[in-house]
Amino acid sequence: MRLDKLLANVGYGSRKDVKKILKDGVVKVNQVIAKDGKIQVNPTVDIITIYGESVNYKQFIYLMMNKPQGVISATEDYHDKTVIDLLDIEDAVLNPFPVGRLDKDTEGLLLITNDGGLAHKLLSPKKHVPKTYFAVINGMVTESDVEAFHKGVILDDGYETKPGELKILKSGNHSDIELTITEGKFHQVKRMFEAVGKKVIYLKRITMGPLQLDENLELGEYRELTEEEVEQLK
Ligand code: URA
Repeated sequence: MRLDKLLANVGYGSRKDVKKILKDGVVKVNQVIAKDGKIQVNPTVDIITIYGESVNYKQFIYLMMNKPQGVISATEDYHDKTVIDLLDIEDAVLNPFPVGRLDKDTEGLLLITNDGGLAHKLLSPKKHVPKTYFAVINGMVTESDVEAFHKGVILDDGYETKPGELKILKSGNHSDIELTITEGKFHQVKRMFEAVGKKVIYLKRITMGPLQLDENLELGEYRELTEEEVEQLK
């Protein structure tokens, strides 16, 4: 990555500030003064110092986003904006990716990281990481749906889901529910409701394992996880 980006990324100020410290000749790469911010450095191999102090390069980044509708949970897309397009450049430069997928029209908690090991662990079917969704359902959700989800329902492709915990928050022509599942099949929540003859009309993820969506995040906003949140995930 570019030296100036790295310096901005580790907190040495704005682009202007970074330009100035480079111009001042206080930055060294492998003991050689570096004044050109455009040079490519590899922070895991090159030794970068400022005023003789090693730069504390953050290798991993952990972000919680409140994903809005209309953006894709991917790193690139030909047609639509992705969640990565919503990141500031200094975060995007660390090549993070979304951990798992939310549909284009689903909102809510999305973890974005460049920690492949953690992502793998959270997505592993063997780990059964619980995820809770809030949804508005077109139709009356009843106790028989609660029981059906508890036993497992058969999806359109014949797959029988593992037990899910369905809580009815409001039942009526439109019902509000919370559903906790430990799997992540394609469109799983929507297809579980289809299996009991109902349609999801709004879907938002509110938890993933120990992580809870921060209510202070507006749609499209994100923040770094706290150290405690990262520890809980590991
Ligand atoms: N289940 C769905 O149907 N969609 C999502 O985005 C997530 C879970």
